[in-house]
Amino acid sequence: MPSNYPGFKYSTDRETFSSAKAKALESLLIEKGIITGDTVNKILSYFETEMGPFNGAKIVAKAWVDPDFKNLLLEDCNAACEQMDFPEGMSGAEGEHMRIVENTPEVHNVIVCTLCSCYPWPTLGLPPYWFKDPTFRARVVREPRQVLSEFGVQLEESVQIKVWDSSAQIRWWVLPMRPAGTEGMSEAQLANLLTPEAMMGVATVKV
Ligand code: FE
Repeated sequence: MPSNYPGFKYSTDRETFSSAKAKALESLLIEKGIITGDTVNKILSYFETEMGPFNGAKIVAKAWVDPDFKNLLLEDCNAACEQMDFPEGMSGAEGEHMRIVENTPEVHNVIVCTLCSCYPWPTLGLPPYWFKDPTFRARVVREPRQVLSEFGVQLEESVQIKVWDSSAQIRWWVLPMRPAGTEGMSEAQLANLLTPEAMMGVATVKV
């Protein structure tokens, strides 16, 4: 999956290097009185418990079972988010203008931010490392079919691929197709099938 994506050749010590840099930066900010020792942990725990792909998964599962909600979601993503039982302010913070696009047997959608790393935080959390990679950002626009096949998504030639470029104005994400054989599943069971990758368009949903 994405971490093994063959287009990106990271050095094996990149995580160690990045965390050392982050630690040094955090120490400096604490020393200068800009943040306290708790600030970073508080923000990280927020992304672990309140704002993450588990929100997007609940929204997609609801859209799969409730056609009216799905229509609202496609028309006005933020209004649909507000109907969910999410913590206060969930449609703000890097998510003021979210839009979702629906995968169908004819059209497959994939998201990118060609400029930097714009991403719908309220529904998908923080973007993965590879989403910010210049190679992914450049290649997915020029040769999406090839890049998707490297992620393991093999599409028939007849399937049209649409690449959506997120920005500070609109942050895109994907409503994946509900897989066959899930007819008897509850909303919670359906939500468990969803991955961030499926809601970015670089994977399909598997049972
Ligand atoms: Fe960006």
